[in-house]
Amino acid sequence: MRGLFITGTDTGVGKTVVACGIVRSLRADGLRTGAYKPVCSGAERLPDGRPVWGDVAALSRAAGGELPSELICPQCFIAPLAPPMAAAAEGRQVDATLLAAGRDAWTGIVDALVVEGAGGLLSPIADGISNADLAGQLRYPLLIVAADRLGTINHTLLTVEAALARKLPVAGVVLNRLTATPDASVDTNLGELLRTCPVPVLGVWPLDGNELLRPGSPTARMDWQALLGA
Ligand SMILES: [Mg+2]
Repeated sequence: MRGLFITGTDTGVGKTVVACGIVRSLRADGLRTGAYKPVCSGAERLPDGRPVWGDVAALSRAAGGELPSELICPQCFIAPLAPPMAAAAEGRQVDATLLAAGRDAWTGIVDALVVEGAGGLLSPIADGISNADLAGQLRYPLLIVAADRLGTINHTLLTVEAALARKLPVAGVVLNRLTATPDASVDTNLGELLRTCPVPVLGVWPLDGNELLRPGSPTARMDWQALLGA
């Protein structure tokens, strides 16, 4: 089962949007593709008070909507905190073994798995375990999602440097356009990162878009299959 590990330069930069888009694109290409969130924190409440996790629901829909949500995400916590802190707020702990075992549960069900981390690359995903640690354990290349806004050059280069220092393979960087009213840096972020970033900068994810806009060839579809690691 090949895969890709989606991480971010920060929380809230649009990992889920990009992950869902990649899952849909791979499925449209005829590849059996799953979406896996090893652990999710930060629930919303339904009118009747039941908790729902937006990331899990979105990933589930992108993966076809027919798979059990425990497969998409086996561990969910209520508080809008990093998973180990959200778990502690419930008197629980993130099951560190289940982070990888939950990936293995997809074996035979799909040919490709898009994994969405929790928070940024060095955010804790379980006690003493960062997203970077888990990505190394799963052995899938990283796709780094960065917000297309002022500050992204620093955040992106820091994240890439941290990944490379840990010898994690980086498939590329995606700049995510988060708002219809962006700041002026969006005119220069992509160009500057194309010049300075030591890993491939793949393009810009448009607001409400389904496909990456690639530098120089905005109409050419991204070949996500080529980025999947073994
Ligand atoms: Mg997300």
